Amino acid sequence: MDYTINEVLQFVAENDVKFVKLAFNDIFGVSKTISIIADELPRAFKSGVSFEASKVDGFLTKEEQDLFLFPDPATLAVLPWRPAQGRVVRFYCNTRHLSGDPFEGDGRNILKMAVAKAAQMGYTCKIGSECEFYLFEMDQLGNPTQVPHDQAGYMDIAPLDKAENVRREICLTLEEMGIKPESSHHEQGPGQNEIDFRYSDALTAADDLVTFKGVVRTIAARNGLFASFMPRPIKDQHGSGLRIDLSLYKNGVNLFENFTTEQNPQAQSFIAGIIHHIGEMTAFLNPITNSYSRFGRLEAPKYITWSNQNRAQLIRIPAAKGDLSRMELRSADPSCNPYLTFALLILAGMDGISNNMTLGDPSNFNLYACHPKDLTGIPTLPDNLGEALQLAQQSEFIKAIFPPFVLETIFREKFSLWENYCSAQDKDAFEKETYFK
Ligand code: GLU
Ligand code: MG
Repeated sequence: MDYTINEVLQFVAENDVKFVKLAFNDIFGVSKTISIIADELPRAFKSGVSFEASKVDGFLTKEEQDLFLFPDPATLAVLPWRPAQGRVVRFYCNTRHLSGDPFEGDGRNILKMAVAKAAQMGYTCKIGSECEFYLFEMDQLGNPTQVPHDQAGYMDIAPLDKAENVRREICLTLEEMGIKPESSHHEQGPGQNEIDFRYSDALTAADDLVTFKGVVRTIAARNGLFASFMPRPIKDQHGSGLRIDLSLYKNGVNLFENFTTEQNPQAQSFIAGIIHHIGEMTAFLNPITNSYSRFGRLEAPKYITWSNQNRAQLIRIPAAKGDLSRMELRSADPSCNPYLTFALLILAGMDGISNNMTLGDPSNFNLYACHPKDLTGIPTLPDNLGEALQLAQQSEFIKAIFPPFVLETIFREKFSLWENYCSAQDKDAFEKETYFK
């Protein structure tokens, strides 16, 4: 919405705002917040609000215990589910050192760097995301059960689809928070849903995705339901993907419009860069052990391929016109940190452009309908988190993006997760206990 600080302060004074939530995400994309009283907001804008950084995953630096949160005025949103008297508003924050310099381990700052790098090269990316999720019943104590909310399937209608009103409430809440919902439907799995909202610039798109997940969880809970963003919460059922739509602009022109490899060489190189780096990036786009049970089945990709035709591919170029012309990446899942994911995709695309990378032939056939013999030789996404982490750890591309202390935290935590998973007797039980909350 791009409010200025003065506009924000005026809004707060005129709208009975009592509490201000300063929101940010740890390095794994887990949402964190500290609440301040509205009178403190001018001070927060001026000198930031300190917090104990060493207690936040990935925020520990050798020199400093404390970092400072500076609310970004452009991200003002009222929390519609909180009281109308004594309102609560929320800002996403930029994290800074005492010196005022941006903190290098903050996902927002990392994404801003990626956006700036693209801008230096003359490019702007617009990003949209399509996030699937499951709704489960809760027990009397408010704990999630394994029982999906309904038994409906793809685009089914009420009364089979029991989530119609929940989706409606989610859409209305998003709208009140300045996010434009575009469509919603029951997905293929029992209790599985999807709500799509409007694309935007990369930073807003990441903020919006974090807001979206928070709204889904909150509205589900208010309806006595548990929302799960686990990539594959029910064995043998459809996974929940996070489709990422990327368009690329130069001098105001969308380079994905009327895409062919001959006519859109920069868009071609952008895709080729993502394809080139996808293996190294997968540990970030698919960061939990459960992410890997989604790949290779039920419309989730496995092979590193592209096509403008069908959905079995890693990358698809949907038939669309004007601003909606884009590429669609189908591998990421909702457990990723969107700030890091979007930063990686932009930088991989830019690397493709810098090196004039080209695409191989499209694979215009349904990979799931093929005999495995015919697919030998086609490169695949990593099989599991361990493999993905190894590729990331060996990657110069990844090393050049993230500060060493960030990578240290990520690899330490994720390798330990992988080891715990490997040594668990009952892997399903381990994953439920770890991620189903
Ligand atoms: N649920 C599928 C996945 O895990 C995708 C289905 C769709 O394209 O809507 O990615
Ligand atoms: Mg879907």
